[in-house]
Amino acid sequence: MTDSPSESELIREYERLTTRIAEVRQQREELVWERSFEHSQAHEQLGSIRFDSVKHSDRIPFSHRQSKEKQSAIREVMEEIRENDEYQELSEKITALQAELDELWDHAAEVIVSDDLNKKENIGALWAAFGEDVPNSRVAEVVDCHEQYPGRLVFNPETETVDYKDHVKQRKENQVRTDHRQKILERDGNACVRCGVSAGDGEAELTIHHIVPVSDDGSAEPENLATLCSDCHSSVHDEYGSGEVFYSTNTGFWQWVREGDRGFDPHHTQQNLDTF
Ligand SMILES: [Zn+2]
Repeated sequence: MTDSPSESELIREYERLTTRIAEVRQQREELVWERSFEHSQAHEQLGSIRFDSVKHSDRIPFSHRQSKEKQSAIREVMEEIRENDEYQELSEKITALQAELDELWDHAAEVIVSDDLNKKENIGALWAAFGEDVPNSRVAEVVDCHEQYPGRLVFNPETETVDYKDHVKQRKENQVRTDHRQKILERDGNACVRCGVSAGDGEAELTIHHIVPVSDDGSAEPENLATLCSDCHSSVHDEYGSGEVFYSTNTGFWQWVREGDRGFDPHHTQQNLDTF
């Protein structure tokens, strides 16, 4: 691979490597299966001792744990297979291919992942390129997020975008605990910080907004929370129809708030945050 492969080169290379790794693994499994079958015949009195993997050196397949005698026969067979030239050759091949795959991921981090995109968008870009089966550990490494984070997302192949799974959305909405919510509302004078609509004004529903989104590791600390009416809350999220917030910095958010009729900034008042 060259120093800066194009995205399509990366995708082709990824397909080639993953296909090849699967093939060699399959070959190795078949070899283990055949070898253990031969031994199975030699130890006929013990019953079947066939298996297709000796990955875990001392782990005896569950179905073969009946007798001590059988277990020791299996250990011997495993040992013999591990020393088998062909087995070693295939194992080395797999290791080498995996090293190539590691290198490919380094390139993927450079070519596909962009600082201009948030974590969710970068994950979408990786899935669009390599498919959704790429291991979460790889995605987490490249995008620099928690390994469980990709598991909370779903990919829409038509739009090539990702969104939270429904149950995750629900949980995020409930994330600001009721008592905490009450304190934020009080701090912000029970009204939308931007337009000033208050809870008493007819249909207005007040929501607590995460300034830095939870998806970007935004905290539930008061500094990161602000009271918005449902109208302002949707306009902060729906500018691009993606649900993402339209601003990119904390300052950007408060600037937008100042443009509103109320323009309240709790950080600039003496209603300071010490009470939390
Ligand atoms: Zn409002």
